Amino acid sequence: KSVIHLEDIRKSYFLGKNELPVLKGVSLDIFKNEYVALMGPSGSGKSTLMNILGCLDSPTDGKYILSGHDVSTMEDNDLAGVRGKEIGFVFQQFNLMPRLTALENVAVPLIYAGIGKKEREEKARLMLERVGLGDRYKHKPNELSGGQCQRVAIARALVNDPSLILADEPTGNLDTKTSIEIMDIFGSIHASGNTVVLVTHEEDIADHARRIIRLRDGVIESDRVNEKKEALL
Ligand code: ADP
Ligand code: ADP
Repeated sequence: KSVIHLEDIRKSYFLGKNELPVLKGVSLDIFKNEYVALMGPSGSGKSTLMNILGCLDSPTDGKYILSGHDVSTMEDNDLAGVRGKEIGFVFQQFNLMPRLTALENVAVPLIYAGIGKKEREEKARLMLERVGLGDRYKHKPNELSGGQCQRVAIARALVNDPSLILADEPTGNLDTKTSIEIMDIFGSIHASGNTVVLVTHEEDIADHARRIIRLRDGVIESDRVNEKKEALL
């Protein structure tokens, strides 16, 4: 079953009268419980593609079916609804709310989902335990290390049980040891049945994924099974 189905996705930015084509016909399927790394040189269109996958931006042309919803024709309001229900985001900069505790940060998506306070706290607590931060739930982001902040962000991304986890350079701000810990968490998220797409510049990070898609100049240059990961199984 496809979580992501893209058909000839095109995206241009318009700068005054000038059109800058960035995605030039991207077609692909990502199935349930795949673990995909998206790579490519700076400027190849990775962020643009992630923004489209995450329903943060619409393609100029082409078809995008996300978990059975045709999101390529949706208006912004409906898109926001699908985004909240289907997608969990993890960013390089963590994007936590500084005044909220770890628990409150994780619970934010549940507020939008209309879930009551008691259930929100229970679910958020459970998610924090899952990422190994059960004892830090009262801490605020400035009282946590970078790796701990990213764990909070991962717990927040998972709390709504989305069909897709999107991570844009999730280890970009972390040292090597912490990066490995964070990649172990993504591994266990994948092992428990989630679909994960992550953008990275680093081959070592991409090697945690099962499938590696490389973009170049707005088209897919290669899309293949990660032999190294398969060999370890
Ligand atoms: P990558 O993530 O692979 O570095 P991006 O998708 O960020 O690539 O960018 C691809 C190209 O699109 C770059 O030339 C970038 O400057 C341009 N671009 C990205 N976002 C915008 C935007 N909002 N407006 C105009 N140009 C953009
Ligand atoms: P990344 O490091 O993930 O490749 P960038 O630093 O290229 O991201 O872009 C950060 C943000 O700025 C993105 O939201 C992107 O859409 C936007 N952006 C990138 N290039 C341009 C541009 N030339 N004009 C306007 N916005 C841009």
